[in-house]
Amino acid sequence: MQVFHHGDSARHDPNRYFRRGAIVDHPEQADRYHRLLETVRASGHVVREVGDFGLDPIFAVHDVGYVAFLREAWDRRDALPGIDDEILTGHFARPHMHRRPEGLLGLIGLYTADTSTPVRAGTWQAVYGSAQAAVAAADAALAETYAYALCRPPGHHAYADSAGGFCYLNNSAIAAERLRGATGGRVAVLDIDVHHGNGTQGIFYARPDVFTVSVHADPADYFPYFAGYADEIGAGPGEGFNRNLPLPQGSGDEPWLAAIADGVVAIGSYKPAALVVALGLDASKDDPIGALTVTEAGFRKAAAIIAAAGLSTVIVQEGGYLCPALQQNLSAFLDEFERARA
Ligand code: ZN
Repeated sequence: MQVFHHGDSARHDPNRYFRRGAIVDHPEQADRYHRLLETVRASGHVVREVGDFGLDPIFAVHDVGYVAFLREAWDRRDALPGIDDEILTGHFARPHMHRRPEGLLGLIGLYTADTSTPVRAGTWQAVYGSAQAAVAAADAALAETYAYALCRPPGHHAYADSAGGFCYLNNSAIAAERLRGATGGRVAVLDIDVHHGNGTQGIFYARPDVFTVSVHADPADYFPYFAGYADEIGAGPGEGFNRNLPLPQGSGDEPWLAAIADGVVAIGSYKPAALVVALGLDASKDDPIGALTVTEAGFRKAAAIIAAAGLSTVIVQEGGYLCPALQQNLSAFLDEFERARA
């Protein structure tokens, strides 16, 4: 399998964030990138560092003002006395208050959803590099039928104009838009991260040309809380083109694979020109912040089910946090996907 990554991915390495009432170590560490890269190298995949496709694929998905904020925020930090190694706020815009302020602290509250997405010295370079990997893998998937984008930081919680849930630029959405542009056809996204792909859903919610499916732990008592319910089916021209398959917390292989199989059937009926798999590995039973109990055998079977759809497929790395199973599950998924297509 061809693997695409960008060395700048490691330049964003947040320290801590606010979780369940406590300040805790940030799980989305740069070391994820090194470990995942080590895994694909050890498995013998063809590993390529990506070039620069520019900003256009990012602007195809994201708001111009939001991207400008991400690019410029760190260079404006002198305006904020006391900033040490990251810019973060405790004040976030709510739907009732949405005026655009001028100051940096207000802007980060406008453009982020929570305390998990600080802006640091290398944040823009890291998220830009991660997005470039998604674009390169999308192009390769059309040429070679499948490819893996080792994206880090992850992306599926990022909306067109908002960071959140460790995510800044929505790599899966950027890949989907790239595929849509290149094929001229419709594209599907299957998100199997333990968390609902709320940003991806939001980006395509009113559109019929990208069908979004997400299999995740029930948001009634789990991040992202405010989206991911089964009755969210799309809006306007996009009605009928979003599907959420929430599972009770603690669900294991059987219900998770059944939901993925249902998603694959729905995607088959949609007849897309290509597929993006938003591959979170945090559905694992061993994940430090997960809520499902999927085994390595489960990831292997998921890969076989998805590969059997026979679509040009970009596998985009989303969540999955540091634990020995992270590397085993990535290896299991990619190896089985490739074996099933051989
Ligand atoms: Zn996740």
